[in-house]
Amino acid sequence: MSYQPNSTEARDIAYQLHSYTNARKLEAEGSLVIERGEGIYVFDNNGKRYIEGMAGLWSVAVGFGEKRLIEAATRQMAKLPYYHTFTQKTHGPSVDLAEKLIAMAPVPMSKAYFTSSGSEANDTVVKLVRYRSNALGQPEKKKIISRFKGYHGVTLASASLTGLPNNHRSFDLPMPGILHTTCPHHRAGAVPGESELEFSKRCAKDLEDLILSEGPETIAAFIGEPVMGAGGVIVPPTGYWQAIQAVLKKYDILLIADEVICGFGRTGEMFGSTKYGIEPDIMTLSKQLSSSYLPISAVLINDRVYQPIAEESANIGTFGHGYTASGHPVAAAVALENLAIIEERDLVGNAHRLSPRFLARLRALEAHPLAVEARGVGLIGALEVYHAAFADEPGVLGAMINRAMHERGLIGRNMGDAMAFCPPLVITQAQIDEMFDIAEASLDAVHQVIDKGGAG
Ligand code: PMP
Repeated sequence: MSYQPNSTEARDIAYQLHSYTNARKLEAEGSLVIERGEGIYVFDNNGKRYIEGMAGLWSVAVGFGEKRLIEAATRQMAKLPYYHTFTQKTHGPSVDLAEKLIAMAPVPMSKAYFTSSGSEANDTVVKLVRYRSNALGQPEKKKIISRFKGYHGVTLASASLTGLPNNHRSFDLPMPGILHTTCPHHRAGAVPGESELEFSKRCAKDLEDLILSEGPETIAAFIGEPVMGAGGVIVPPTGYWQAIQAVLKKYDILLIADEVICGFGRTGEMFGSTKYGIEPDIMTLSKQLSSSYLPISAVLINDRVYQPIAEESANIGTFGHGYTASGHPVAAAVALENLAIIEERDLVGNAHRLSPRFLARLRALEAHPLAVEARGVGLIGALEVYHAAFADEPGVLGAMINRAMHERGLIGRNMGDAMAFCPPLVITQAQIDEMFDIAEASLDAVHQVIDKGGAG
């Protein structure tokens, strides 16, 4: 495709390296230029409207164009556009947000530590876990167990926690001391006849076997998303978190809940941990924390984690960690206003009330000839697709369907052959129907092309 030399598309190709993109394909085809947004919709530079079926990157809970967030940012920008939280300084917005998050947490938490992305939050967690073990005089207790297909970000440590090949390949990751255990995907992982509960117990046994083979005294923590997101929206099987937590308790291993996607209503409860009875020692939060209007993330730690860290900082003389933008006042002010909107408009209740419709429409697609499995909870779900013509090329069918949805005005995301749906929490029932009508028409269109032999 050729663009006018001065167009956004041409300059994008000339100057920008993109995340999660095949750079050569982008050079040949260019990118979709999104110009503005309103509610659950975004508009491209030709004025075409799309349903943002992924809420951006699982994040724009309150929808696009929310004036209250713009005003909150403007107010704070005018008062104090920047300050930091190093060396015994602080400012109101970071204190207010820390207090709010501790009050909202599903289990007793002691302190909030602010970062700017999910990756930074999880990277910080890896460092906190190491620091704590050293403080406790257990320098051998440093390994962290994550799961295959888990997603925790892309910095060196967070990408190591992530259990997806594309985040390791050619980056020389994972780094030592990060291990991966069984992905709790029942349909893909269970042996024939194995119930969800039996499979959950087997996942817990796999975890225990790994702990024993490594030496329990070397394992510091376990990290997991309550519902796996970027690994393909994998909803935990019955009894999974109970079985996993029993093993962690037995060996005195910290539990880290990565709530970056699940947090603030996505599952129809305020936190994924609430939904699944998870009692984490550490939580990471981002995305719907500010609806991604500004970058901000948080790590919540309980007293078991905080006290040794505080002690170590006193011994050393400082806690040698911190980002220029930790607790950024404008981002914190926007997050506070965003949380106020989520509460006032009962967006968690909205997700809860609309979930049956969302899941019914998603599950109805399971009957489609291209579909293998529909899975979801709250307002997050995925449809896994398959056709024998693409048996050797995973992701090709998913990409075709994604393109067909795009043409029809729906932005989705195919993680390989899992088509994800994760709309803004402000979505209405009519808009859910509109979204799935487009998805269904797109599946039909792609199926027809394949049947006509146009698959390649
Ligand atoms: N954890 C989870 C569960 C995520 O989904 C993501 C991002 N998709 C991250 C961490 C990393 O967040 P970020 O992209 O802000 O670094």
